[in-house]
Amino acid sequence: MPELAERSVVIIGAGPVGCALATLLRRQGLEVDIFEREEAAESGSGNSFNLTLTSRGLDRLPRPVKRRLYLQGSVLVKRIIHHSDGAISTQPYGTADTHHLLSIPRGVLQVILRDHALRAGSRIHYGHKCVDVDTARPAALLQRRDGTTAWVRADLLVGCDGANSAVREAISRAHPEDMWVTRDTIDHGYAEITMEYRDADPAGMHLWPRGDHFLQAQPNRDQTFTTSLFKPLAHDTPRRQFAGLSTPGAIRDYCATEFPDVFDRMPEVGQELMSRTPGRLRIVSCAPHHHQRAVLIGDAAHAVVPFLGQGINCSFEDAATLSGLLESTGFGAGDVDAVVENVVEKYSGMRVAAGHALAELSLNNLQELSAHVTSPSFLERRALERRLHELYPEVYTPLYQLVAFTRIPYDVAQQRHRKLSSALDSFCLGRDLRRDQDTIIAEFVDKYGDELLRDRERTG
Ligand SMILES: Cc1cc2nc3c(=O)[nH]c(=O)nc-3n(C[C@H](O)[C@H](O)[C@H](O)COP(=O)(O)OP(=O)(O)OC[C@H]3O[C@@H](n4cnc5c(N)ncnc54)[C@H](O)[C@@H]3O)c2cc1C
Repeated sequence: MPELAERSVVIIGAGPVGCALATLLRRQGLEVDIFEREEAAESGSGNSFNLTLTSRGLDRLPRPVKRRLYLQGSVLVKRIIHHSDGAISTQPYGTADTHHLLSIPRGVLQVILRDHALRAGSRIHYGHKCVDVDTARPAALLQRRDGTTAWVRADLLVGCDGANSAVREAISRAHPEDMWVTRDTIDHGYAEITMEYRDADPAGMHLWPRGDHFLQAQPNRDQTFTTSLFKPLAHDTPRRQFAGLSTPGAIRDYCATEFPDVFDRMPEVGQELMSRTPGRLRIVSCAPHHHQRAVLIGDAAHAVVPFLGQGINCSFEDAATLSGLLESTGFGAGDVDAVVENVVEKYSGMRVAAGHALAELSLNNLQELSAHVTSPSFLERRALERRLHELYPEVYTPLYQLVAFTRIPYDVAQQRHRKLSSALDSFCLGRDLRRDQDTIIAEFVDKYGDELLRDRERTG
């Protein structure tokens, strides 16, 4: 095992979040060692889906990293809805130029972040699997591929080892009274399928909402699509598969019926879905996010379902928060043990509620993606909210904009939206939202405007 320097941070996991944190910490001159269980060639090759980044997460990365991501990713400004009857409609993500998604293949994101972590001077040790931690020293027990193990010590230990975090499991196993953990999976699974691109609109996220399931296609720069099917899984089959899709013929029939406008672009779909085991979607929550001098960030602290596309955005926010706290409390200078304990406690206090709120918001968005986006009443309500925001941006901001394009903590955005939404509900009851739009907005602002402004000043 390597000899670690003073003022050192050990990060477990060289995924996107571990690498982003390493880059931020190196910018303040800290010694950073990352231990990754995979070998270098395997690392980051596990999942091929695209990740959508929004300004919430992107703005927390150093400018050169962000610049490279924009050079490789696709800017998506709207959802493009493919309805069952063949009609197509669009929904903008927001109201300003910065209100877009940057869609980037996960592998590409990983390579860029790893490259910056290394260039910044972090060391990545591949083939080292964390199997235990001691949060008091703090130290991690690492196992090499040949089975040998050794402890590695640091001043701060950070678990960035994803939804199945060994760091989190070791802490909660050794100190069940100090950290609770809940784990859940949902009925839906996901699998990637190949879909030909052929003159698709490159500026939007394509979506085929079909009740309890949906198809999603994200355009890439090289004129390909990254396409995923999200659908409930069968409960009664030995092998994990989508409900009702147990043969290539059944898969083809299903796709021909549900997605007729693009069925001829997926010639291999039957064999493809037969040969792939759908991924499970997990929700893992825990609290607090620290123990003594160890802390969890990214999916290790909060794995959420991907329906809001915020998992990694929240994780980059975690990394920037931790790095900012270390910098402002003088990790490089003072009594290191005391500083670290203070920082990780503060960090937890700032991030736990945000992670829990994101888990709830993400699950709620499944309904929106698979069903609501085609409902006329839902669309009228959204149009009313957009108009209200256009006319009175200081009073009202739609939930998605708060979540994706601001720095307002997820839990504050959630509370604000709950309050506004129920107030707006009462104004909309029994009204024709298309005809009465301006009257509803005027009455709403008249009654709630001052209160909402005060609320906003109070919560930021
Ligand atoms: C289908 C799907 C779609 C998604 N889409 C989006 C999206 O559009 N936008 C978005 O913001 N988020 C999205 N997410 C969430 C996003 O993928 C995660 O938030 C993100 O990958 C978390 O990164 P991480 O570095 O914390 O964890 P991971 O990416 O899981 O990386 C963890 C790293 O730790 C290593 N590791 C694990 N265990 C050990 C160990 N014991 N010892 C050493 N190393 C270890 C792993 O090999 C890996 O390299 C999606 C997730 C899924 C499943």
